[in-house]
Amino acid sequence: MIDDWPFFEPAHHACAAEVEAWASIHAARLTDEHDADGSTRALAASMGEGGLLRATQAPLDVRALCIARDILARHSGLADFTFAMQGLGCGPMSLFGCPPAQAFMADVQAGRALAAFALSEADAGSDVAAMATTATRDGAGWILRGEKTWVSNGGIAGGYVVFARSGEAPGARGLTCFWLPAEWVRIVARIEVAAPHPLATIALDDVRVPDSHRIGAPGDGFKVAMATLDVFRATVGAAALGFARRGLALSLARAKSRHLFGAPLMDQQMTQAAIADSAVDVDAAALLVYRAAWLKDQGAARVSREASMAKLFATEAAHRVADRCAQLHGGMGVVRDAPPEVLTREVRALRVYEGASEIQRIVIARAEAAR
Ligand SMILES: Cc1cc2nc3c(=O)[nH]c(=O)nc-3n(C[C@H](O)[C@H](O)[C@H](O)COP(=O)(O)OP(=O)(O)OC[C@H]3O[C@@H](n4cnc5c(N)ncnc54)[C@H](O)[C@@H]3O)c2cc1C
Repeated sequence: MIDDWPFFEPAHHACAAEVEAWASIHAARLTDEHDADGSTRALAASMGEGGLLRATQAPLDVRALCIARDILARHSGLADFTFAMQGLGCGPMSLFGCPPAQAFMADVQAGRALAAFALSEADAGSDVAAMATTATRDGAGWILRGEKTWVSNGGIAGGYVVFARSGEAPGARGLTCFWLPAEWVRIVARIEVAAPHPLATIALDDVRVPDSHRIGAPGDGFKVAMATLDVFRATVGAAALGFARRGLALSLARAKSRHLFGAPLMDQQMTQAAIADSAVDVDAAALLVYRAAWLKDQGAARVSREASMAKLFATEAAHRVADRCAQLHGGMGVVRDAPPEVLTREVRALRVYEGASEIQRIVIARAEAAR
């Protein structure tokens, strides 16, 4: 549940109650760590049926997105992932429109189809401007050629947002964004990562794409990507916050129930310090996340500084809280598939995707310098 802070309106409390009610019944039940694809499909279908995915498309309410991710991540990393990708994979269409993707977006909102957002390449992760996939004009349309990797939902998505170099200007100013149905994309390889997460490398083999599938103006792909990430970056912080809340709850339960030296572990002052540090991490992350979300909802054109602060602090905080949680559990903290170990794996990638922590620091420093 969310705190009674002035960031929230009555609708947000209703949203929190709705997501909590769904998650407490379905999130763990539909999550199978050993079947990421099947779990993602089942979670999306159930979220669609429960109406949760309405929040993932326009009009976007960033506080509602953050509340949902905060709650879902506390219950299940895969549930959070499923919800987030339905939003991110439709984000450019929600913000800039794309008529051919309308039916797909309706399927995504109903949980019948999964969405994907293909920006990264093997040699263009943090350095988006190094993108090598090309979009070449072909009469009234385009030909797309290249490989994208680290594509979440790659292999199981029904459609892909794809960014390619169209060459209107050098570097990041010469990219264009498109929406492609899954049949136009070839799956090169699936990628296994520490925590369950459907991922793939995909190829575009001279794919003919009508101009109607373009999202935003030619050459504005970077703008489309950054505007989308401006909304969704704070929500990564919200997921980290949910994971941190789970870590704090596990830590407290362990500290109160484990007896050492004739007393509960909680009576040891170093344990109290660990609990206090985790509690401060959780509240500070929540304040930064919901400030960024509130600011965006107030109509701010860009909230890059605040969204980067939220993402940086919350993901690093979740890592600290998960590590303290594992430490408090002693040997039990590293037992495979035990809750502290699952949490440790689940929080790791958040410090890397949608801009590594170092990239967030660069965004924040540049914004400070320009103030
Ligand atoms: C689980 C997962 C899911 C993902 N899902 C998607 C997806 O759906 N769509 C998509 O497009 N991409 C996705 N990604 C890709 C992700 O966005 C990239 O991994 C990320 O941008 C980093 O790129 P890279 O892996 O190429 O690392 P690199 O760019 O090689 O960076 C490696 C490390 O270098 C450091 N670094 C980077 N820049 C600097 C700097 N300027 N100064 C100092 N240090 C620096 C950081 O620590 C960084 O982690 C996903 C990644 C993961 C792990």
